[in-house]
Amino acid sequence: MSKTKIGWIGLGNMGIPMAEQLIKAEYPVTVYNRSQGKEYKLAEMGARVANSPQVLALETDVIILMVADDKAVEAIFEAEDGLLKTELAGKTIINMSTVSPEIAKRMASRCKERNAHYLDAPVSGSVKQAETGQLVIMVGGEQSAFEGVKPILDQLGKLSKWVGETGAGNQAKLAINSLLALYTQGLAETILFANEKGIETSDLLELIGQAAIGNVYTKIKGDAILNDQYKAAFALKHIVKDLRLAKNEGISTPLAKTALKTFEDAESRYGEEDLVAIFKALR
Ligand code: NAP
Repeated sequence: MSKTKIGWIGLGNMGIPMAEQLIKAEYPVTVYNRSQGKEYKLAEMGARVANSPQVLALETDVIILMVADDKAVEAIFEAEDGLLKTELAGKTIINMSTVSPEIAKRMASRCKERNAHYLDAPVSGSVKQAETGQLVIMVGGEQSAFEGVKPILDQLGKLSKWVGETGAGNQAKLAINSLLALYTQGLAETILFANEKGIETSDLLELIGQAAIGNVYTKIKGDAILNDQYKAAFALKHIVKDLRLAKNEGISTPLAKTALKTFEDAESRYGEEDLVAIFKALR
């Protein structure tokens, strides 16, 4: 049986390694990115390249978005050469970007009008997990549509879980990313405090790593601070976006409020660097 034709939209830090996983799994993949130049490696691996979302949709059955934010999603759907400008009946659109539950509901309704399915399926994990197909994927939308595309999601993640109706995946993701922001700020503040008291970062990280509070995340981001490496795996501007989305959804707890302010204050200087650059902002 021939494999589902997949369209991949968005070739950023996450989109490229995720699309690679599908090509490696021998799915026929067509890619599109707003700006040109990021598609070369995937084209060398065998991907077809479309010059618009509209063209991409014409030649594929399942269309996956991994783009920055709500504005990008709107552009992909609604532009003159966007997804909505073509026949979508029977296709499934999976939006893996971290965006608002509101835009998920809006785009799901546009898809339904056209007899297409829309799933929100944001991911937890970063570039490393994307490169190894070890993401955690939380899905909202029709459960039967989720079951239909689960084999594809299973190439990208170690867990794909349906969590409820349209927008539920986005809600789960915003909750998780609130914790991510708190962890990151907490780790940065802890290292700064220890340093002030004369404790070396490497010694502190070794202790944290062996203690119950140590985990994969504190290891990766602690090492980034230790090595002074702030190149974006997950850009700081994206956590600001996510904390704002969580605020719009009504999160108002003390730590969430504080984290939003801290990351917002850092955004103009460090927005393009990794979120762990919050360490430099606090220093
Ligand atoms: P990124 O590296 O900043 O890439 C963003 C992608 O969105 C690029 O392909 C960009 O196209 C496209 N884009 C931005 N604005 C657009 C617009 N107005 N119209 C069309 N395309 C547009 O982002 P990323 O790190 O891959 O993250 C993608 C999504 O996954 C975000 O929602 C992020 O919050 C989420 N996420 C990221 C991570 C992570 O660790 N990086 C982890 C989990 C979830 P250009 O190349 O033309 O700029």
